[in-house]
Amino acid sequence: MWELTFPRTVVIGEDALEYLREVKGKRVLIVTDKVIHKLDFVEKVADYLKEAGLEVEIFDLVEPEPSVETIVKGAEVARKYAPDWFIGLGGGSCMDAAKAIWALYENPGIEVGDISPLTELGLRRKARLICIPTTSGTGSDANWSTIITDVKEERKLELASREIVADIDILDPELPKSMPPKLVADTGLDVLAHAIEAYVSQWRNDFSDALAIKAIQTVFKYLPTAYRHPEEKEAKEKMHNAATMAGMSFGNSQAGIAHALGHSLGAIFHIPHGRTVDLFLSYSIEYSAREAMGRYADIARAIGIEAKTDEEAVEKLVETVRRLDREMGEPASIREMGISREDFEKRLDDLVARAANSSCTFMNPRVPNLEDTRKLFICAYEGRRVNF
Ligand SMILES: [Zn+2]
Repeated sequence: MWELTFPRTVVIGEDALEYLREVKGKRVLIVTDKVIHKLDFVEKVADYLKEAGLEVEIFDLVEPEPSVETIVKGAEVARKYAPDWFIGLGGGSCMDAAKAIWALYENPGIEVGDISPLTELGLRRKARLICIPTTSGTGSDANWSTIITDVKEERKLELASREIVADIDILDPELPKSMPPKLVADTGLDVLAHAIEAYVSQWRNDFSDALAIKAIQTVFKYLPTAYRHPEEKEAKEKMHNAATMAGMSFGNSQAGIAHALGHSLGAIFHIPHGRTVDLFLSYSIEYSAREAMGRYADIARAIGIEAKTDEEAVEKLVETVRRLDREMGEPASIREMGISREDFEKRLDDLVARAANSSCTFMNPRVPNLEDTRKLFICAYEGRRVNF
């Protein structure tokens, strides 16, 4: 038996935001960040909600890679305001924060780390959740995970609960238009990592496969245009939908070691999620191919790669991923990210320990032991092929 979870309602296409006029309730707490607050999105969202007769309050203190402290602060604000709707408006950080704040608001007794598939949160007694992504990457709008950073421990808490999936997910193509090219690259390649890792995961299934393949095809077809020609509407809209499809896919399968290694590097060296995960994607394919050759070959063929054998298809897939990274100006190694060898070696034990404990490690097609994890980090530092 396998339980799949999706948002109850997904609204797509031009003017999708207008759906907010139909929301019924009393008070909305919009969870967002200062950058989004400066753009006119918050106002637009608030205006539609006011038309629907709702009061609106804004919590805009979410930082990139939100911390436990921010969630606790947000839950305090929510308790005073008593909303019956939360809106996560922004990139993954804002939506992840909205999910966690909502869980703590309804359960004053729990801590952030208690959000887990094994804990009954009893959500929706007080409020429900709307997610409105303004970037095209995380897929947080469509799945049941939330990543919160424990700053003191330099650790990403990879939390999940089927209850924190959005009730309404609004994909308005107008919102990602203002993304700068660097953000388009980081987040778009994160979409690719979600979909590829979901497709090869040990938890894959027919539904996650279908969504993953469509998302992968969309990334290769539209991401370079979305990156180079920001004014191109179709490419941005397709990438916005692909991000959510990939989010639904890995949410119902599992991310893999590109995410485990990426979370670890990001937590220790404070690098944005998308960029770290993109970096490890090609290395993770080289490492995992031995256990999932046919699956990676399916992906290669789905994007039009021609090859006589599965091995050749996978080799070409790795080259294609690296070429796309280069085209988008992404670093090809940890060294290229500007981390000195001395700093890297000083933290290598910590990097390995955190990656080994990541929930994304265990369902990877090939599960690395500590020694392999260390070697993977070293290959990624030096930009060397993984051949063990
Ligand atoms: Zn990701």
